[in-house]
Amino acid sequence: TSSSSSSSARRQNSSSNNNKGGSSAQRRGRASGRRDGAAESKASSYVEHMEGSPDIDLIKQIESTMLTKSLNVNSEDIAGLQGAKQVLEEAVLYPQLMPQYYTGIRRPWKGVLLFGPPGTGKTMLAKSIASECRTCFFNVASAALTSKWRGESEKMVGILFDMARFYAPSTIFFDEIDSIASARGGSTEHEASRRVKSELLTQMDGVSGDGDESGSAKTVVVLAATNLPWDLDDAIRRRLEKRIYIPLPDHDGRAELFKIATREVRLCDDVDFEKLADESDGYSGADITNVCHEASMMPIRRIIEETKQEVHAQGGGRHEVLARMKQLGQDEPSSPPVGQQDLLMALTKVQSSVGGRDLSKYQAWLEEYGAT
Ligand code: ADP
Repeated sequence: TSSSSSSSARRQNSSSNNNKGGSSAQRRGRASGRRDGAAESKASSYVEHMEGSPDIDLIKQIESTMLTKSLNVNSEDIAGLQGAKQVLEEAVLYPQLMPQYYTGIRRPWKGVLLFGPPGTGKTMLAKSIASECRTCFFNVASAALTSKWRGESEKMVGILFDMARFYAPSTIFFDEIDSIASARGGSTEHEASRRVKSELLTQMDGVSGDGDESGSAKTVVVLAATNLPWDLDDAIRRRLEKRIYIPLPDHDGRAELFKIATREVRLCDDVDFEKLADESDGYSGADITNVCHEASMMPIRRIIEETKQEVHAQGGGRHEVLARMKQLGQDEPSSPPVGQQDLLMALTKVQSSVGGRDLSKYQAWLEEYGAT
């Protein structure tokens, strides 16, 4: 659906894209050139916009593996983290809704870092905020950028930001950012990793909003998450200006997590969320979800065991057991309810995945570098 003038602009763009050399600044210049082209272009997708580019396969891969155009993660599904939600709203949501207010000294943050133990809801938070903003969401598994895409990762980063500008307003979420932006550095650092890191720095400087006179619709927000904030490269850390600690859930948070995670199963009347929260100190949201998963299996396991014993007592074998199970599922399609004992038992089976020593490390990093 592009006009002929925009398709010739596109050809020019793709030929400049063909030139792999040039400084980061030149590349940035080209990217912004394309950005203007994107605004004028009638292309409905970036792939269409970049048709004919030598990097089209890479572009298609990014679009299919990283881009979600309409996310639907409800912030009500996230237990606790009220403080973090508010800070994120101010850092990401409001500037996207009212870009006119967020200029000059009030410019949006270059990037926002969510840090804390694994499984505490960092990814969920990033997705929910992008859902509320109704922005395009790019989910970048940073570890895959350097392993799966090794050799192409620097170029991927450039294309990613360019694509994000094309679809702006958009959010780019780097999960496990430490795996591309660690401070390992020194002579042992792989040259390719160094290049990816420096491309990321350049691109992040480009989204700061300074220089983007056109304001509003061009917003690209960088969100990143890490379980290892102390491993982050200084330059990247500085650009992730807002750093939000996502801690393990507190008592109320844990009670809410049990509630959310058992929403879809039938529960016995004896289930006591407060008591479960008392018993799960130190568990992350992901741990509690695992506990509920484990607990929800237990009544079914009991039925299977009873069925086996019954059939065996009647002299039946494996074939008869399986036939009885199938019959059971048909006669009683709603699964048996989960009781407090099941949940308590599951708590003893599933251990918390975060140790106390790690927690004090997060606390120390928060005191030194946290910015909330
Ligand atoms: P992180 O990015 O911090 O490692 P995730 O957001 O990927 O953690 O969470 C992993 C899973 O754990 C989620 O899919 C969800 O089932 C559960 N979970 C973790 N924290 C929360 C929370 N605060 N509220 C609801 N579910 C959570």
